[in-house]
This record gives sequence, structure tokens and C-alpha cells, in this order.
Amino acid sequence: SVEPKSKSAGASSTGTFISPVPYNDLCQMFEEVEKTSSRLTIIKLCSEFLISVMKQDSRNLIPVTYLCINKLGPDYMPGMELGLGEGLLMKTISEACGKSLAQVKLDFKETGDLGQVALSARTVQPTMFKPKPLTVGEVFQNLQTIASAQGKDSQTRKMRLIKRMLTACQGVEAKFLIRSLEAKLRIGLAEKTVLISLSKALLVREHQRVGENIDMDLVETAEQRIRDAFCQVPNYEIIINACLEYGISELDTHCALRPGIPLKPMLAKPTKAITEILDAFQGQHFTCEYKYDGERAQVHLLPDGSMRIYSRNGENMTERYPEINIHDFVRDTTTTKTLILDCEAVAWDKEQGKILPFQVLSTRKRKDVDISEVKVRVCLFAFDILCHNGERLINETLRERREILHKVTQPVTGEFQYATQLTTNNTDELQKFLDQSVHDSCEGLMVKMLDGPESHYEPSKRSRNWLKLKKDYLEGVGDSLDLCVLGAFFGKGKRTGKYGGFLLGCYNQDTAEFETACKIGTGFSDELLQQLYDRLSPTVIDGPKATYVYDPSAEPDVWFEPTVLFEVLTADLSLSPVYKAGSGTYDRGISLRFPRFIRLRDDKGVEDATSSEQVIEFYESQSHIQN
Ligand code: ATP
Repeated sequence: SVEPKSKSAGASSTGTFISPVPYNDLCQMFEEVEKTSSRLTIIKLCSEFLISVMKQDSRNLIPVTYLCINKLGPDYMPGMELGLGEGLLMKTISEACGKSLAQVKLDFKETGDLGQVALSARTVQPTMFKPKPLTVGEVFQNLQTIASAQGKDSQTRKMRLIKRMLTACQGVEAKFLIRSLEAKLRIGLAEKTVLISLSKALLVREHQRVGENIDMDLVETAEQRIRDAFCQVPNYEIIINACLEYGISELDTHCALRPGIPLKPMLAKPTKAITEILDAFQGQHFTCEYKYDGERAQVHLLPDGSMRIYSRNGENMTERYPEINIHDFVRDTTTTKTLILDCEAVAWDKEQGKILPFQVLSTRKRKDVDISEVKVRVCLFAFDILCHNGERLINETLRERREILHKVTQPVTGEFQYATQLTTNNTDELQKFLDQSVHDSCEGLMVKMLDGPESHYEPSKRSRNWLKLKKDYLEGVGDSLDLCVLGAFFGKGKRTGKYGGFLLGCYNQDTAEFETACKIGTGFSDELLQQLYDRLSPTVIDGPKATYVYDPSAEPDVWFEPTVLFEVLTADLSLSPVYKAGSGTYDRGISLRFPRFIRLRDDKGVEDATSSEQVIEFYESQSHIQN
């Protein structure tokens, strides 16, 4: 399999390669993309550019792809986040372009686009000499240095690097450089579109038919293969290198999941009744497990004997759980060298020997946890094994995976246990098991296909092969929704000085837009409202982002950067003249009626918010709509 030879993709593949592609060429392509809204044209522009840089040197592909998706490397690696604050950028623009800070601020207020502000400032700035033009490799490497800069004088170092680049910017470069630093390219180039373009470019290379039209079906198959590989190994550098070396059709063999890289977890669809489960599985073998209410934990044993625990989002949270030691529950570490387990980490009451509610788990410190500080320990409830000694197990049946799980691990009460399970298709027994799960402090049941290809573990997929039955949500739409906080309304009365209500939206994965779904003001304690004010007020932006789809009649008092997700409950979903969720499908949007706050979803990124597609599914699954 192909490993990245260096940690940084800017100097990727050979470890010293710095892409010489002129940054201006990339920015010209961005400029063209910005001018069009046609997805096909965008794919054409982007794929042609990728083909041209690949022709010069295939190693160019990695930094160019990352700059197109506005990322610096895999999400699971620390120090890859840009998103510099407006304040710092305005100060830097002012100093680099010889414009007063007050003027920069004013320009920003007028345009709402710091990229544009920098571009105008650069255009009118007299230059004594012509600096060396920027290259993609240089910009990419500098962005990586900026993102990972830490420590006392890191602000100064960041500003120095940005200033140096700004001074060298020509033409439209300043606009895109600043937007990249803000992590908002805003040219309508969604990651999905870049993936399609990348697939097309790689196909053209493989077919050596530059200029000819490649069948869209071929592109779709290639894109699916890359996407599948990405779910197992979310690292473009590894994937692109594997494509270049072995070809897209060989990706599955050469780009399989591996310990040390968190794969995207398999997800479940909601159901509202036991009868629905029986209908869904129609006589096929299925099995039920308790649905534990904690945090997903993907546990990896690496060849060097170390352990890593990754969150649902692929974040390394090993340090958060110093009390977990994989060697306590792997049966034989002389024969088991590597492992990936799928588990739920749940707060555990040691004295009483029972599960504690999620709220207790959420009180634990998230960073720098010292074992002596651990008051509430967690117990891992394992429900799957995905890899053992380098062998990929996701294409085995669940029945087989369970057997292997039991063979290579051993339960240790209160530390590592197997998810309680029952295999039956008797309605009464199912009902009893559901009640028992709730009695045992679980959320309900997970129902999974047990045999056949449908029981394979499908990274990142949400299919009917895994169903969730949450006891609390059997009434209503069957599940809670995780919506992004887009704006807020100032509080009145007791809530004066804080936000009293929030505007929430779902995420449209096709358009990369947030579509408003409701206003919420119920379910918050005063203390929580204060915390939310403290957390959200620094993220206030001057106006709605271009990616917010909303109706002016539901405009909030303040808009935010999308950073926080609320898990919310709703009585039902209805079509609305005001809200916009799913409005690409229906002529009106869908909104939540009587939404109620349940909790913050800090374990999910904003793009993991409930999708527009899911909102539509929830809406359509309601019995009155079906009838
Ligand atoms: P989403 O909203 O994307 O479906 P979520 O994170 O809100 O995901 P849930 O809808 O509550 O999660 O259900 C799936 C989650 O349930 C898993 O991500 C996992 O963390 C948890 N879980 C608990 N017990 C099990 C189990 N036995 N099998 C699989 N997942 C389980």
C-alpha cells in the first residue's frame, strides 16, 4: 500500500518536491470558476487545470487538489486548520499594503469580502520592484506553516509570512490567498466537484486521451471508487499516489483501511417502530444491539503496540481517555499485532457497576486529561471489528466479524464489554429488549443485518442495513436532528443581554449550502444561554454568508460563522413558506415544528449536520404525508 512519504503534502511524495506551478495559474482558474454557476463548466475548468498540472509533473496534483478544496491535509491530522480571524487578516492587509487599518475595516464593511479588500489594496499599491512570482508549492507550504504555528510569537510569525506572500501577489492572487487563509474560498467549488474533476483528470491520464470526451459513466465509476477509498483512508495524498501508481481500478486493493488512519464510521437510518424493522428486513437475518449513549470510539492498535482512539469525526482523542489500555482487553498481544475496533465510550459508575447518562460523560475534560483527575471513568462497549493483523474485515459478514471480535478480545467489566445483543424476529421479544435497553440507560436499539453482503461494514454509509430505534423518538419523526446555528435573536426580559433564540439550518451536501430549518428558543437553561452567548458572540459576522439559504422574513438579529451544532427534537416537520430546508426538491422548504434543544453536538463537524436529504426523508416518512 502507498504511504505518504512526508507529513506535508506541500512538499509531497519526494519529501522535497515543491510544486513549481505558478500560483497565478491556479488563481486564474478560480477566477473563471467564480464567474460561472454551471456545475459542468466548473468540472471542465477544474479537470482541465488538473490535467495540465499533471502533465508538467504528476506530483503537482496533491497541493493543487488541496488548495482547490481549501484544505491543507487530512482532517485527522492536527495543525491542518486555517480559518484565520478577520482581525489578524485586516491588520496584515493594512500593514502589507500600506493602507490604514480604519480604511481596511471600512472597505470590509462595505464589501463583506476580505479577499476583495486585499485585492483592491494591492492593485493601487505602488511597487518599487517586481517580486518573484508565487508558486503553488510555496503558497501551500506557507499555509501549512501558518496553520501549525503555535506559541508566544506565533501571531507575529504568521503575519510576517502572510505579508511576504501578499507583497508578491500579482493580479487576482491576493483575493484568493486571503480567502484561503480565512478558509472560505467561496467560488462555488464544492469538494464533491473537485473529486469529480480529479477523477476525470486521472482517467484522462490513464486513457491517454487528452482532449477527447471521456464518458460521464466512466467518470462516475472512477469518482465512486475514489470516494469509497476516501471513506477507508481519508487522505488525498495516499489516494492520489495510489491512483498514479496502480490506477483507479486498483484503488480498493492498494488503498485499504489501516491502523493509524481513522476510517469514516458506518451510520444508521432511523426507524419509528418495531414493525418497520420487520418490514425492512423481510425475513432476512438481523440482530439487535443496545444503542449506547456515549461517544463513538474507533480504537486502533498500531504495529508498535501503541493505541489510538478516534472520535466519530476522526479526531485523535486518545489523551482524553488515559484510563483505557488496549493491552487489558486484547487476548494475546503476541498474536494480535494490529486491530481496529468500533465501540461506544460510555460513562461508567464503578461502585454501582452500571452505565451513567451521556450528560455525565460530557462533564469530563476534553484536553490534557491526567489519569489522577479521572473521576468518571468510561467503559468501551465494542460492537464491531474492522481490521485484524492488517487483514481488512469490513467485507466479512457481521456474524463472522463478531466471532473474530470475541476471539481476539476479552471483556473486562467496566472497562471493555461487548454490546448487549439479541437475535430474534419475535415482536414481543424485540419490544422487551427495547424496554430493557432503556432500563439499562441506553437510547434504544441498533438493528443490523447479520448475514450476506448487506451485513458488510460500509464506511460512512447510512443505509437500511443498520437501523436505529430510539425509544424517546418513537413519537414524532423517529430521531433527533443535528442542525447548525446560523444566527440568533436577542433575548428579551430575563434573557436580555444574551441570545434568546437561534436560527438553525441543515446542510445540503450537493450545494455545500446551509438551508434554514427553524427558529429555536426552547430547552435552554439560563446558564446554557450565557455559555452559548460567550461561545457564539465571537463568531458574529457582518451579514449572512453566501452559502446561507434563508428567507428575509426569518432574518435573525445577528449572523454567525457556522461552528456549532445543536441536537434538536421536533414534534413534526411541515412545509413552510419561511424556511428553506430541502427547498431544492420541494418548491417550499421544510421546517421543524415546536423544536426543542437537547444538547450540543461537539463531536460532529458542521458539514456533518443533518443533511437536506435526511430532512426530506424525515418529512416524507411521516404517516400523514405517506397517506
Ligand atoms: P447520525 O445523526 O449521523 O445518525 P449520530 O452520531 O447522531 O449519528 P445516532 O443517530 O445517535 O448517532 O446513532 C448512531 C450512533 O450510535 C453511532 O455513531 C454510535 O456512536 C452509537 N452507537 C451506540 N451503540 C451502538 C451500537 N451497538 N452499534 C452501532 N452504533 C452504536
